[in-house]
Amino acid sequence: MSERKNDDFISYELQEFKLFEPLFRWARKKSLWIVAFCTGCGGIEMPPLATARYDFERFGIMPNPAPRMGDLFLITGYVTPKTLKRIIITYEMMQDPKYVLIHGSCPINGGVYWDSYNVVKQFDKYLPVDVAIAGCMPRPEAVMDGIMEIMRKIEDGTADGWKRYRENYEYYRKNQDELFGEGWREKDARRWLAWI
Ligand code: SF4
Repeated sequence: MSERKNDDFISYELQEFKLFEPLFRWARKKSLWIVAFCTGCGGIEMPPLATARYDFERFGIMPNPAPRMGDLFLITGYVTPKTLKRIIITYEMMQDPKYVLIHGSCPINGGVYWDSYNVVKQFDKYLPVDVAIAGCMPRPEAVMDGIMEIMRKIEDGTADGWKRYRENYEYYRKNQDELFGEGWREKDARRWLAWI
């Protein structure tokens, strides 16, 4: 009986007081793995970020081709509906907690493609965004600054897009279905992801 009480106490400490949460947040911000998936022109900013000039590995940041092991999704430029389908499925494959940074005007408001029929104008209608960097195109320093901002938000617990996606799933799903048509996952995604 006393053992059971002790268990309850520890579980209360862990769940309610979140004893180790500051440590987890610190570790998360120091080991961000970026999903290797670039869109639009801004992807060209990634080589200087990853190589000697800015060397983002010194902050614990690494590109990773496997979405299930990724934490950070960079949307590096304009997104077409066809690409957005792949982005949504990839994002949903990532484990929580996960973070999204969009860079360049295009994913924010369509940018130079604002009147194009084939560019998604408000990315945050379809997936939650944690940090957005304006500009066309943002320089590597700006992208690095955006990643630092994500790290600050992870540490103070305000990088919560992954929670918002769960809580407002109906909203995001409705917008996705309006753009692609209902049942798009079954019709399209199954063609390239046989296990869905
Ligand atoms: S914001 Fe500019 S650089 Fe970025 S994707 Fe759009 S047109 Fe290209």
